[in-house]
Amino acid sequence: MNSSAKSSQAASQPVSHSSPHRAKKRFGQNFLVDKSYIRRIVDAIDPKPSDRILEIGPGQAALTRELLDAISAHCKEGETASLDVVEIDRDLVARLKTEFTPEQLRIHEGDALEFDFATLPSPLRVVGNLPYNISSPILFRLCDYEDRIADMTFMLQKEVVDRMAAREGEDDRGRLSVMLQYRFDVVKCFDVPPGAFRPIPAVDSSIVQLKPLGEKRLRPKNERTFANIVTAAFTQRRKMIRKSLGAFAPVDAWANLNIDPQARAETLSCEAFVAIADYVATKGA
Ligand code: SAM
Repeated sequence: MNSSAKSSQAASQPVSHSSPHRAKKRFGQNFLVDKSYIRRIVDAIDPKPSDRILEIGPGQAALTRELLDAISAHCKEGETASLDVVEIDRDLVARLKTEFTPEQLRIHEGDALEFDFATLPSPLRVVGNLPYNISSPILFRLCDYEDRIADMTFMLQKEVVDRMAAREGEDDRGRLSVMLQYRFDVVKCFDVPPGAFRPIPAVDSSIVQLKPLGEKRLRPKNERTFANIVTAAFTQRRKMIRKSLGAFAPVDAWANLNIDPQARAETLSCEAFVAIADYVATKGA
């Protein structure tokens, strides 16, 4: 098929391949098949032709196709809807190449965990139905590029999204909540049931959106000290912070910071963690 034939093919028309793709467990392949959820996700993203969008793990293009259609709806005469995608599975990359032109899809074959997001123009919108086995490492990797990111919309395991979005005092509050919320606005959008995928996964999923806080981002004096303190507090989450952070914070810290030393980690705000980290960074234990 030549590229003009491909580009004239509506993005919403899936190409039929000679043999069906067999989902690979090692790549976390649970493909979205429920059109109503695919549409709700694309509505939440609300893509525009001027957006630079990177999709992680396009797979069989369930989201990709709908994203391109949504962008096309806003394109002017002669404009082509386009996306960047990073996909690790070379069989799926080969299929994507037969269905889309290079103008529609800039395909980066490889591991998203090694992808240099700085090679793409910013501000970048990052989206994806992420492979659950690598979702936390991808999130932490993307944090390194927060200045280049406009926003991120991901499908993740519901349990992970609940931890990401948990506010202080909620049971699900953990290291992930604090390490994301001090720099991103984290909003859980909606749940997606296992029946929306093939093969059907064992767990529920949710859509989450993250937007860098920009000026409102908290700026600990020393990010490493902050991260160590958050980790220590949640590693012993049942202990009072007086105990779990005893090795870091001098005994006078709690009174000076007006933080209850008997509090448990999940009750503390991001601001409180930054205050403790800054106290430690300046005074030391
Ligand atoms: N977006 C498709 C959908 O919603 O149906 C596929 C989602 S599937 C859960 C995850 C996709 O990510 C698969 O296509 C898989 O091959 C790809 N993938 C897995 N690990 C990856 C990695 N480290 N880097 C890039 N893509 C990866």
